[in-house]
Amino acid sequence: MVQRMSRMMLKTLRDDPADAETTSHKLLVRAGYVRRASAGIWTWLPLGKKVLENVSRVVREEMDAIGAQEVLLPALLPKEPYETSGRWEEYGELLFRLKDRKGADYLLGPTHEEIFTLTVKDQCTSYKDLPVVLYQIQTKYRDEARPRSGVLRGREFLMKDSYSFDTDDEGLAEAYRLHREAYTRIFERLGLDYRIVSAVSGAMGGSASEEFLAPAAAGEDTFVDCPACDYAANTEAVTTVVAPAPAADHAPVEELDTPDTPTIETLAAHLGVPASATLKNLLVKVDGEITAVGVPGDREVDLGKLAEHLSPAVVELVTAEDFVDRPELVRGYVGPQTLAGTAFRYLADPRVAENTAWITGANKEGKHARNVVVGRDFTVDQYLDVVVVEPGDPCPKCGTGLRIDRAIEIGHIFQLGRKYADAFELDVLGREGKPVRVTMGSYGIGVSRAVAALAEQTADGKGLCWPAEIAPADVHVVAAGKAAQTELALEVAGKLHAAGVRVLVDDRAGVSPGVKFTDAELIGVPTILVAGRRSGEGVVELKDRRTGEREELTVDEALARLS
Ligand code: ATP
Ligand code: MG
Ligand code: MG
Ligand code: MG
Repeated sequence: MVQRMSRMMLKTLRDDPADAETTSHKLLVRAGYVRRASAGIWTWLPLGKKVLENVSRVVREEMDAIGAQEVLLPALLPKEPYETSGRWEEYGELLFRLKDRKGADYLLGPTHEEIFTLTVKDQCTSYKDLPVVLYQIQTKYRDEARPRSGVLRGREFLMKDSYSFDTDDEGLAEAYRLHREAYTRIFERLGLDYRIVSAVSGAMGGSASEEFLAPAAAGEDTFVDCPACDYAANTEAVTTVVAPAPAADHAPVEELDTPDTPTIETLAAHLGVPASATLKNLLVKVDGEITAVGVPGDREVDLGKLAEHLSPAVVELVTAEDFVDRPELVRGYVGPQTLAGTAFRYLADPRVAENTAWITGANKEGKHARNVVVGRDFTVDQYLDVVVVEPGDPCPKCGTGLRIDRAIEIGHIFQLGRKYADAFELDVLGREGKPVRVTMGSYGIGVSRAVAALAEQTADGKGLCWPAEIAPADVHVVAAGKAAQTELALEVAGKLHAAGVRVLVDDRAGVSPGVKFTDAELIGVPTILVAGRRSGEGVVELKDRRTGEREELTVDEALARLS
């Protein structure tokens, strides 16, 4: 069907909605793509639904191409599996909880590791049933603290989530690699500018994890970006050195005198761990300076790498005590970009919190640094993070001055390992006839968020400006005049449609050409075809929405060009 604006439910607005802060929020509302139903809850109107569907289609095609099988799990979920995994508690206020008529507890799914694990436990019993990758494109619910940015951060939003199940680590690594490649193809097809950065897995648990970030001023993530090479990293991951959480008795700092570059053995002995250990949660000072150890993105410190980094020096382990006694140490290492979570992990330690008056920023949740209460505002992680990168610091790959930019998290992939398989005792019968514990990955794409991210990256001063694959139509035909123009517009639209071109035609009566042109630019279909002044001669105008280039052509030339 040709989409006729005279018959569509479409109302464009001249003014930005009062509460809108981001470009995508303003334009998606003004161009009639979405309508706010409640805070962070959105109605997708006809044009918006088309764009959302286009993103879903690309995601679906690329997931199918790596052999993932589409399923649909419920969004309304019983509490028990989330108790088993511990997330009924962990998620805190983020979870929408509800009761049925009998008083039993339910939740609206924020993500689905638990239920997928149970599904596979039920369906797969032998190693022959694996590997398996399952996915769904489904509405998720998170009671976000401040859903301010339109569909960028909804309390109800559309996510593609997939889960891989393997019997061994190699299988998981392969599933992860396939997802990473599929995501690359998806974001390229969508026309998004993106970077892949290593990430901290947070509430998901597990080890290896990377985020796909779409650079945009409206983004809520901060990342480090090299203007000269492909180096990019999440500020948390690249820039952190990690310290052990203070022991209950707050043991004093120990000093280690090493005559030479410390060997792995010296360090291991000092730390009281085997020389083969890979350590997490370690912060070391060399000659009084905090040394960032491990490679960027690593959350774990390899003792071998640590030894390589150290020059002959006094090595001392640092504990939270250092920051208590010397707030200048905190000030020295926490840059202005730590407004997001990082600095707050320290502050969760009440002894450190006393020294925080100098921080005035707010974190992602908009909470301020003062009066931080452990357990209420933050849970104390097993580690403390310190940001050490400032804009202009050398890129670890090529030495060029780094930038610190804003971005939107559009995708996230995790190697979960056996966290959920352990919680739910997910085993299959192995080759040798013994049960084998399954290892998992989980992989998300914010489908509705991707629509907003695209709007952010592609819009210009006149309105939305969609990449071809995602646009709600290929050609926007404008009837700029009276009956004759409308007749020609509909004729051209019909022919384009017959040739397989997706057409939107503005055949509204009683709307001036000026208003129609403005609306066409606001709506953002890639090509605008105008049946106007020279319609009588069978001449139309083609306009490229992005470049603004125009050209007059005969109808036949235009049809040949566009079909
Ligand atoms: P954020 O850091 O933005 O809160 P997240 O890390 O909590 O996102 P994940 O749990 O990794 O999100 O979920 C997978 C993907 O779902 C994210 O990469 C993002 O694209 C999308 N997403 C998460 N929360 C929202 C939301 N509130 N609204 C829209 N999309 C979201
Ligand atoms: Mg979140
Ligand atoms: Mg995140
Ligand atoms: Mg994430």
